[in-house]
Amino acid sequence: MHSATVSAKGARRWAAGHPWIYRSDLVTAPAADAGAVRVTDQRGKPIGVALWSPLSEISLRLLDRNPDVRIDAEWWHETLARAIARRSALAGETTACRLVHGEGDLIPSLVVDRYDHWLVVQLMSAGLERFRSEIVRTLIELVHPEGILARNDVPLRRKEGLDTSVEPLHGTVPDELEVSEHGVRYLAAPWRGQKTGAFLDQRENRVLAGRVARGRALDCFSYHGSFALHLARRAAHVIALDASAHALTRAAENFRRNALSNGEFVEANAFEYLKARERDRDRFDTIVLDPPAFAKTRAALPGAMRGYKEINLRAMRILSPGGMLFTASCSYHLTKPLFLEMLEQAAADSGRRLVLRELRGQPLDHPEVLTIPETGYIKGALLEALD
Ligand code: SAH
Repeated sequence: MHSATVSAKGARRWAAGHPWIYRSDLVTAPAADAGAVRVTDQRGKPIGVALWSPLSEISLRLLDRNPDVRIDAEWWHETLARAIARRSALAGETTACRLVHGEGDLIPSLVVDRYDHWLVVQLMSAGLERFRSEIVRTLIELVHPEGILARNDVPLRRKEGLDTSVEPLHGTVPDELEVSEHGVRYLAAPWRGQKTGAFLDQRENRVLAGRVARGRALDCFSYHGSFALHLARRAAHVIALDASAHALTRAAENFRRNALSNGEFVEANAFEYLKARERDRDRFDTIVLDPPAFAKTRAALPGAMRGYKEINLRAMRILSPGGMLFTASCSYHLTKPLFLEMLEQAAADSGRRLVLRELRGQPLDHPEVLTIPETGYIKGALLEALD
């Protein structure tokens, strides 16, 4: 195996539980193509084995702290089996879940999502790409899927010098797959849908919102209606709102699939819609806000904070007394404290008194490692209007 030498600062990152070593902390680059390399500190002490990406800003991603380990078929089998076993509590609750959450499962830059009998994978570093066939072979052994699709159309791959494409790696993968999630069924779109075909990361939050739903309900940023479906089981009437007509067509199809007839599908900009409802003094008993990431970069954070505050403030104002609001943010840059601060400010401006009933973070199949902030991005809160 080729080796890399890293600076004291680089070695300290690993010691502190973070798997990335940047190019600036590389003292000697491996004289090798992308793949697995042994890493030593500046005193020559071997400190582990890492994925090596020659073109990326992130040069090394820790695979194993044992410098003598061989990254062979057996290693992949053990490592992937461990990640999959960590999800066993979800069996029976859902047919779709994330089997590998990259760094959160100590397998940097790999995502594997299961949709019933199919898998969707994302290989997001040059070093990992080198192990594509080992990973595919091991997943076939462990999961016996009917097909594996690579959703490698992520811009991140370009920073690694990799192409972006969507291609089957094994068997066949249909255009649409039915997911059964805590008693609700919906279609995922693995080839073209957002992420790997659906938003698996909000699954338990949808259940939570569904449990407290009643009366008139509003699901803003509904996409394929996944929250709306859960709300519809208890609420009298649900408005699924999205800016995308195509997403709403799918939401309507998902309502029919569940024999639910209390859904209404509204194509609108959520900001304008909420403003108009506030002006009309309209009231909802249940509201869900699950917007896209407003802060894609740190620089975008102040504007994003204003955006989050605006929709939350308006939603709070149109909640009926005793009404429930489930609100979320998936912006990595909006940290947990900032998310809470934004909600506190919105509550103060809303003139309403709101109880924080539950604070939510990452679901079981998207593990957030405390020393790897990049593994966490979802924050959620369930609020109840007291008056
Ligand atoms: N709640 C969904 C995921 C939402 S993804 C789930 O659990 O599956 C975010 C959605 O917001 C996308 O469908 C996108 O079309 C929609 N969107 C983005 N900006 C919007 C806006 N200003 N108004 C309404 N919808 C918007």
